[in-house]
Amino acid sequence: MLELKDFRTKQHNDWCPGCGDFGILNAVQMALFELKLEPYQVAVFSGIGCSGKTPHFVNTYGFHTLHGRVLPIATGAKLANNSLTVVAVGGDGDGYGIGAGHFVNTGRRNLDFTYVVHDNQVYGLTKGQASPTLPKGLRTKSMPAPAMIEGMNPLATAISSGYTFVARSYALDVRHLKEILKAAIVHKGSALVDVLQTCPTYNDINTKEWYAGADLQNKTPRLYKLEEAGYDGTVKDPNDSNEVNQKKAQALVKSFEWGEKVPIGIFYRIQEPTFEDMLGNRMPAYKEVPLVKQDIFTRDVSPLFQALG
Ligand code: SF4
Ligand code: MG
Repeated sequence: MLELKDFRTKQHNDWCPGCGDFGILNAVQMALFELKLEPYQVAVFSGIGCSGKTPHFVNTYGFHTLHGRVLPIATGAKLANNSLTVVAVGGDGDGYGIGAGHFVNTGRRNLDFTYVVHDNQVYGLTKGQASPTLPKGLRTKSMPAPAMIEGMNPLATAISSGYTFVARSYALDVRHLKEILKAAIVHKGSALVDVLQTCPTYNDINTKEWYAGADLQNKTPRLYKLEEAGYDGTVKDPNDSNEVNQKKAQALVKSFEWGEKVPIGIFYRIQEPTFEDMLGNRMPAYKEVPLVKQDIFTRDVSPLFQALG
């Protein structure tokens, strides 16, 4: 019988002690295990950065790709083998900086996959420069001066790009993150899980203590769970445009809440046809047999040439 340890590898891990990446790695492994997936049914892809090392530590198929390029490669793999469970992993600099074009346009397709972003507001691997999610005016310890430009909002961008599952969790709340990841993986469509991740080496602002509200007068945790606050981000009737717009609007408003209170949980979820569904409608064979199992060498392509005149 499959055990949690079957999702672990023996690769040496040199993430800094206390890094939030460990919590994300554990949550990914636990989610896959609890969903009763077999390692051969899963592929984990990554970009470049500290988070990029994740596929080395998860015992599934995996590919450590290029900076900002994880989504096109994950897309190709999912299209070639639509029976795979595809998990893309990346960082905030990687995915929301150089990879931002892919982030937006992959969301538009609604391919059935999960994108997990280690969001620590810095470029950790290259010594802590401001990443696209660092708010304006903040200065982490390796920056010579405060950030001059405003940070971007990945949740709002994902909602407006077409992701059909948009959530945020916290690397040090592994139980919450694991449940969010399970919901994201089970969701049929493109899922973004933005994970607030502590980087104790370079981000000395958004620390474990900061998230716990140690600097606040009432010392109460900043993070609160949407599901415990009566928030429901799930669209019940995808054909009801009023409901869809209302759920999108409330998710956008929530996504800008950042300060003494920071929400985590599922901001927006809707069931819509996936890219694979749409491809299958156009090419019925795609629905029946994954591309990797189709004979692409001996097929008759003459109808295609005839159609082109
Ligand atoms: Fe983690 Fe930051 Fe160290 Fe990278 S630099 S391993 S994100 S603590
Ligand atoms: Mg980062």
